[in-house]
Amino acid sequence: MAHMASLATLNPDAWLYAGAWSATWWSGLHPETVGLAMRQRRLARLIDQALSASPFYKKRGGGRLCDFRPTTKHELMACFDDWATDRRITRAALESFVADPQRAASPWLGRYLVWTSSGTSGEMGYFIQDATSMAAYDAIDSLRLRGRAPLDNLNPLWGLDQRFAFVGATGGHFAGFVSLERMRRATHGRPTIQVVSALEPVARIAEQLAVIDPTVLICYPSAAVLLAERQLSGTLGLDLTEVWLGGEQFTPGQRALIQAAFQCPVRNNYGASEFFSIASECRFGNLHVNEDWVILEPVDANLQPLSGDGFSASVLLTNLANLVQPLLRYQLTDRVRFAPRPCPCGDRFRVIEVDGRSDDILRFQDAQGGPVPVLPLALETVIEEGAGITHFQLLCRGSAVIEVRFDAELPDAPAAYERLRAVLLAYLRQHRVAGLRTRFSRAAPQREQRSGKLRRIVAVQARSQGRGEVSGSSPASA
Ligand SMILES: [Zn+2]
Repeated sequence: MAHMASLATLNPDAWLYAGAWSATWWSGLHPETVGLAMRQRRLARLIDQALSASPFYKKRGGGRLCDFRPTTKHELMACFDDWATDRRITRAALESFVADPQRAASPWLGRYLVWTSSGTSGEMGYFIQDATSMAAYDAIDSLRLRGRAPLDNLNPLWGLDQRFAFVGATGGHFAGFVSLERMRRATHGRPTIQVVSALEPVARIAEQLAVIDPTVLICYPSAAVLLAERQLSGTLGLDLTEVWLGGEQFTPGQRALIQAAFQCPVRNNYGASEFFSIASECRFGNLHVNEDWVILEPVDANLQPLSGDGFSASVLLTNLANLVQPLLRYQLTDRVRFAPRPCPCGDRFRVIEVDGRSDDILRFQDAQGGPVPVLPLALETVIEEGAGITHFQLLCRGSAVIEVRFDAELPDAPAAYERLRAVLLAYLRQHRVAGLRTRFSRAAPQREQRSGKLRRIVAVQARSQGRGEVSGSSPASA
């Protein structure tokens, strides 16, 4: 999410960046010829590298992409020491490095950027970026984040006068924070890049933003919704030139609310820890896949190519930029579909719709009955980091009861519940939430009726009123 657009001209690996930038610009001009030719060249390079230097992929063989069996995060984490093409990379060494949150954005083994992610699957993943992949991500963002027309983003000075504020999970090895912190260190104060923890109460986040007085706000859609509500109510007075969003489902209702509040362009982006900038938005609000750098294959529940034009069960991702930790046909749990027709903007990289992470904002009350909204990202982070639990579901019934459920395979669920409850209530006390009870349920986590999708943080009332739609409790989706 931490895309600094033109700031990426300050990429520390200037030559690599210049190469990636010019190639990305050129393929953006001619997606169907130059873009796809570059994709084939990069794919051949990736397969060569994986087969020659990764013991994991050597065993899987194959000279073509379709020869590779799909892989999962679970499988790669289990075979971690056989995965990377730099044989110094081991899980034990990496875990020792990431154990210290202060090392976020510091180079590992002198050359790699590291980030961790639990993602929607709930299993921790460790992702290592080499200079080539960072140059690619920077180039993509520089040229496509603020609009996809190849001539629109050529002002390298655009970012220099901006004041960027990032509201997100901070203080750990999270992809958004790490990439933003890397940029902050490289830019030496011009422009200003400041981070605000999304774990703070929303009123406190708003106070900090008022001091920072950003021109560009970078955050999750749910956080932008809460800030937009404050802007509209007059308790926040930001003067933004742009809002950059990513990391969660983004609904038309949320867009309308955020635009009404801040009166500026809102840029959405689809990325993952496995590939930072999978798709970026054009002026029609459509997400075009960066097909020169990443390959997506929508698949059914049996990991077979999807037939029909509905949403996939998941999607196989091939990262053409990262040669140190190859990802070939890696299963992302996002449900996606390609749009059947080309986009009227003229960009021939395909348009994708994503049914991604869309947990609810929870709305509690303080002792005086005042509203206390809490971000799903904050709750997930607190529970994952504080209780060490990723396979949970919170069902919030009204503003006073949270029911906690776990996946069936979690051993000793009652003990997990006690750990989760302790960190959850301590966190909500900091937000002055009053009159709240939790209860443990042995029932299986609820799934969306239509899609079968599992969400971890659910405002039950809003979901039922909203007929189980993807967008949840935010007024924007009403
Ligand atoms: Zn378009």
